[in-house]
Amino acid sequence: MPRAVVTGAAGFLGSHLCERLLAEGWDVLGFDSLLTGSPGNLSNASGNARLRFERYDVTNYLMVEGPVDWVLHFASPASPRDYLDHPIPTLKVGAIGTFRALGVAKAKNAGLLLASTSEVYGDPQVHPQPESYWGHVNPVGPRGVYDEAKRFAEAMAMAYHRVHDIPVKIVRIFNTYGPRLRKNDGRAVPNFISQALAGQPLTVHGDGSQTRSLCYVDDLIEGIWRFLVSDALGPMNIGNPKEESVLEIAKLVRALTGSKSEVTFTERPVDDPEVRCPDISRARACLGWEASVPLEVGLASTIEYARTAWDA
Ligand code: UDP
Repeated sequence: MPRAVVTGAAGFLGSHLCERLLAEGWDVLGFDSLLTGSPGNLSNASGNARLRFERYDVTNYLMVEGPVDWVLHFASPASPRDYLDHPIPTLKVGAIGTFRALGVAKAKNAGLLLASTSEVYGDPQVHPQPESYWGHVNPVGPRGVYDEAKRFAEAMAMAYHRVHDIPVKIVRIFNTYGPRLRKNDGRAVPNFISQALAGQPLTVHGDGSQTRSLCYVDDLIEGIWRFLVSDALGPMNIGNPKEESVLEIAKLVRALTGSKSEVTFTERPVDDPEVRCPDISRARACLGWEASVPLEVGLASTIEYARTAWDA
């Protein structure tokens, strides 16, 4: 069976991805510095003899023994709060970490699947965003550390593809939520859930008219899996095109938790994108994929997770 190296293996997405690869019969070697990841995320998978996990910061030289078929580079702080708290590690893992991941792929004759982001589109002036859109990013703003690291990572991966003929797949991940989000990662969904469960006000930034398109983690992992085993290369948007305003999301979380919390309107972060919605024509055509979990259903399971895991 194939063998994958997964960086960021103990993160929100990395851990779900490891579980899926193991379920498909793959061998997995996972790395995570545990800067924002947590070993508990791998507790379901840790009994599996085909998983090996090492705590390791992949911005350091990456030494892998044995054959490798795919390197899946998922290591990075990924919520705005996390990358604002860790700007330099974010830049390093996007730049140097991608360089290490590509080095392993090249040495092993493997492919690279890069976890990229809708943030490469910045505060978009084209809506919804197709893969062909070049984006509208402020390189020197606070979010630039994440946006530009991922843009550099994409450029470097494509250079390795052109020069060394390495198969490169770039998944541009739009807002994703589900079990294993951290209570304090600062994102809208975990913030609203923890606030609603604690009976505290839901902090909507600005007037809440900005939009996001939320994809449930199981749908996202299905899209990534199909991309991995397809012939498709290059950038691929994976996300849910169903767009909601942030205020609507807050109200839905409040309703689903049965909370009586009020909504308060607070200051908007610098360079917070106004709209975000994936054009998933390519994923539909190449992978036959689209998100299927309704927001109410995905949020209900995330709330259930939060009630048990966050209070434990
Ligand atoms: N947001 C909010 N209240 C919060 C956290 C976030 O209104 O407590 C807003 C944030 O300003 C943005 C949207 O929700 O407009 C999504 O933010 P998130 O941090 O989840 O992800 P982003 O899409 O910005 O990476």
